[in-house]
Amino acid sequence: STTLPEGVGRAFVTTLRETLLGAADALGDLDRRAGDGDFGTNVRTAMKLVAARLDTEEPTSYRGWLTALYMGWLGVGGTSGPLFGMFFRDIAKAAEADGGEGADENAVPSLAQFAEVIAAGQATVQKYGEAEVGDKTMIDALAPAVAALREAVGAGAAAGEALAAAEQAAVEAARATAETTARRGRASYVGDVAKGVIDPGAAAMALVIGAARAAVDG
Ligand code: ADP
Ligand code: MG
Ligand code: MG
Repeated sequence: STTLPEGVGRAFVTTLRETLLGAADALGDLDRRAGDGDFGTNVRTAMKLVAARLDTEEPTSYRGWLTALYMGWLGVGGTSGPLFGMFFRDIAKAAEADGGEGADENAVPSLAQFAEVIAAGQATVQKYGEAEVGDKTMIDALAPAVAALREAVGAGAAAGEALAAAEQAAVEAARATAETTARRGRASYVGDVAKGVIDPGAAAMALVIGAARAAVDG
């Protein structure tokens, strides 16, 4: 199937860092209105840990770049730290999905492999977080993105087209979380007060899918 461009891991992590740092204030504000207010700080801490790891490891492979990303998130508290950490740990496995033992660590994933590991990441987040679609969490943005990506892959779409469809699905679904009441996470404690507020984790997940789209567009 379609192979993603060389350097896609570096492009994805670099773009995502810039995007999340640029959005950290706004994401923190959403969490102040609908949760406990620490999401902006959690995002910044994660990105600082990612940068530190990039400095020491100087990764050259897809797997190396994605490892810095997931290790950074795993170092953060809150609910989002471990969930994004485990999510990106699954995404890091993409390039070896077909390779088995001794797979080339510099290998770049195919679009189909990328779609599979994102789906695996969704399953991991749901296994540990126990959120379903509609609970006003990152899953609300991720699930439709995974569905759109799989559908596009099944239809033989090019990588840029497939990820653009996934991004659009994630962005629309993240916006729609404003209409729902949280049943998971801290936002569930404030109930209807969070009505009208977009879930910050869902908004961040839409940025993640957008960074993947940008990385593939080159
Ligand atoms: P905390 O709620 O512990 O303060 P953060 O503020 O870091 O954690 O992250 C909040 C985000 O985490 C929420 O916006 C939501 O998208 C996501 N989240 C919270 N609980 C869950 C869960 N059980 N499953 C999936 N995502 C969740
Ligand atoms: Mg919070
Ligand atoms: Mg918290």
